[in-house]
Amino acid sequence: MILEHSKNIYKSLKNRPFCATTPAMNYRHIYHAGNFADVVKHVALMLVIDYMKEKDKPFFLLDTHAGIGLYDLHSEQARKTAESDDGIARLRDAPDLPPALARYVDLVRDYNPGGQSRYYPGSPLIAQMMLRDGDSFVVNELHPDDVETLSLNLGRDKRVRVENRDAYECWRGMLPPPQRRGVVIVDPPFEVRDEFAQLVKGLRDAHKRWAGGTTVIWYPVKDPAHVAAFHADIAALGIPDILALDFYRQPPDDVTKLNGSGLVFVNPPWTLRQSLADIMPVLVDRLTGGQGSFNFTLIASE
Ligand code: SAM
Repeated sequence: MILEHSKNIYKSLKNRPFCATTPAMNYRHIYHAGNFADVVKHVALMLVIDYMKEKDKPFFLLDTHAGIGLYDLHSEQARKTAESDDGIARLRDAPDLPPALARYVDLVRDYNPGGQSRYYPGSPLIAQMMLRDGDSFVVNELHPDDVETLSLNLGRDKRVRVENRDAYECWRGMLPPPQRRGVVIVDPPFEVRDEFAQLVKGLRDAHKRWAGGTTVIWYPVKDPAHVAAFHADIAALGIPDILALDFYRQPPDDVTKLNGSGLVFVNPPWTLRQSLADIMPVLVDRLTGGQGSFNFTLIASE
């Protein structure tokens, strides 16, 4: 099944001016779409949303750094880095995937009618596909061009509201949601030096407003010492029930390189650690040819 509005997306993507508007907004996700980090992040996001859907009650979802929602992997920008070759491309035709991965690959396939392997849905379109009628989704993107493309890609959907705000202000401002159950996904571009510090502060403020919500935070893994320091700063907030998953695509011998990616889960579904543990060995195998690894860190117990 492909969403009706998606048919118009391709045109809008093709001639996008990938210009920067402010010095702090040079990041364009098209260069990274469908890479190993997207795969891990999006599979984990799907597991978290699954859990929300176990109850009949509607849930709230906020994507603070949404991007444009759908990426053309054949575009000049995507081919320049070819990062998806070591990401989604390694799963697409893989046989015998565990159900959670097979379902993710199927969802990507839904955006590629006729067996193409061209389009990759970002977090907003993946989440949109999983929403039920009563659920609500706030999708935020600061870049003025990207927010326009994002709106087009999401189409008309009364469950979804698109915002064009600073992510940290939006994160604070949207909480607590009326539903009192839900998920915030925070996926910054790490263009600014103090992004880790901003995340810690953002989490502290968000938790004061809504202690019961689930939060998923993405971060790059270069130097494991920096990751440990980030985890320690989060632990120092005194918020209970926080888990981290670090995925290494290679041993971190050179700490200036992007060696992997991580996710922090605040109030994770109780099933999440096991669900991830079931699929991570397959992702390590498929995405890294066995060179990589993964580990969990219990940043704070329940
Ligand atoms: N979450 C997306 C996904 O998984 O498909 C990818 C998001 S990409 C890593 C980060 C996005 O954040 C970019 O589209 C960038 O324009 C946007 N961005 C950068 N700074 C921002 C800010 N202060 N507030 C909101 N969005 C911002």
